[in-house]
Amino acid sequence: MTAAFDLLLVGAGHAHLGVLRLWAGGQRPAGRIALICPEPYVWYSGMLPGLLAGRYSAEQCRIPLQPLCAAAGIEWLAAAVTALEADTRTLGLSRGDALQARWLALNPGSLPSAPAQEGAGMELLAVKPFPAFIARWQLWQRQPEPLAILGGGAAGVELALAMARQVPALALFSAAPLLAGHPPALRERALRHLQAAGVQVHERCAVERICADALIAAGQPVWRGRRLILATGASPLPWLRASGLACDDRGFVAIAPTLQSLSHPQIFASGDCASLPGTLRNGVYAVRQGPVLAGNLAHALNGEALAAYHPQRHALALLADGQGGALLSWAGLTAEGAPFGRWKDWLDRSFMRRHGAAER
Ligand SMILES: Cc1cc2nc3c(=O)[nH]c(=O)nc-3n(C[C@H](O)[C@H](O)[C@H](O)COP(=O)(O)OP(=O)(O)OC[C@H]3O[C@@H](n4cnc5c(N)ncnc54)[C@H](O)[C@@H]3O)c2cc1C
Repeated sequence: MTAAFDLLLVGAGHAHLGVLRLWAGGQRPAGRIALICPEPYVWYSGMLPGLLAGRYSAEQCRIPLQPLCAAAGIEWLAAAVTALEADTRTLGLSRGDALQARWLALNPGSLPSAPAQEGAGMELLAVKPFPAFIARWQLWQRQPEPLAILGGGAAGVELALAMARQVPALALFSAAPLLAGHPPALRERALRHLQAAGVQVHERCAVERICADALIAAGQPVWRGRRLILATGASPLPWLRASGLACDDRGFVAIAPTLQSLSHPQIFASGDCASLPGTLRNGVYAVRQGPVLAGNLAHALNGEALAAYHPQRHALALLADGQGGALLSWAGLTAEGAPFGRWKDWLDRSFMRRHGAAER
């Protein structure tokens, strides 16, 4: 076991990207610091629908991690964390060793959940992790087949609109009404776009299991096919639930406004893996946590008082419509059209440029 780290960052999620960017700008605290992340690139979820719709190249949608870590003056360890013992701040890694640090910061995201599957008649493809998803989608595209998507949130709707014209038939399943949590007018707008793209939408249809080539809801088959994409919202990573950290009732790490674990203050958590009242699980909130986290990690290492993160009351959502436009939702207002698509494109490209991604 190596115990020489002052701080280990786990995962290159949105908040940690912000931390690295600020440190690259000269705000890095002293000490031995490393980022643990299995992939050499961080894929940006905001541009994924545009990548699938053929509007972006792969290079435009991913941030190379090594140069960003080098600019921030920290080590990059190419491994996945497979276990955490919170009491000793010990991380087990996929490459077989274990690391310990004085402070830990967790931003490894979340995974979609899958219904129970009986038989092998259907291939399931989770939207995260992105590298595996993109590679499999490229294989599927060589022989397009009818497709179903589970998940009627923003990600499921964007994926359906991006993929609909590339497969012979597409069905979208949502346990709740589509885009629950957004204004009803956004749902209406999305339904119009989905209908125009030929997507068969099944709302209030909770798929409870997969039996051979059938999706089963309320005991009945509701779709048959061989390919299913899981975009079912965030569920917690199993190794975090087993870590000894205090978690909420769903298994997300319970944190204080300082972004510290409620049970283990020497462990910070941000983004999708964390649970803080008033904070939604999307990139907008995770990005806003970045500067607070960067400051608090420096304060923690220096033995100084920490600051509080205050979630914003409203978050802007811009959903790609698959045709270059976007649907907007903000503070109860909705709108749509090509100018919003151009705005989203500008925002996304600016984010990528700030973190060192290729322009083309
Ligand atoms: C298709 C799609 C589109 C979306 N579009 C938007 C959007 O437009 N706007 C928006 O606000 N949100 C969007 N989201 C939601 C958004 O992706 C997440 O909420 C957001 O990424 C916050 O995640 P995060 O920062 O916690 O971690 P992530 O961004 O998911 O990053 C997690 C990082 O941790 C790494 N990691 C994972 N497991 C481990 C491990 N065991 N050990 C080490 N490293 C690990 C991963 O490789 C990755 O680098 C979208 C989601 C999807 C699926």
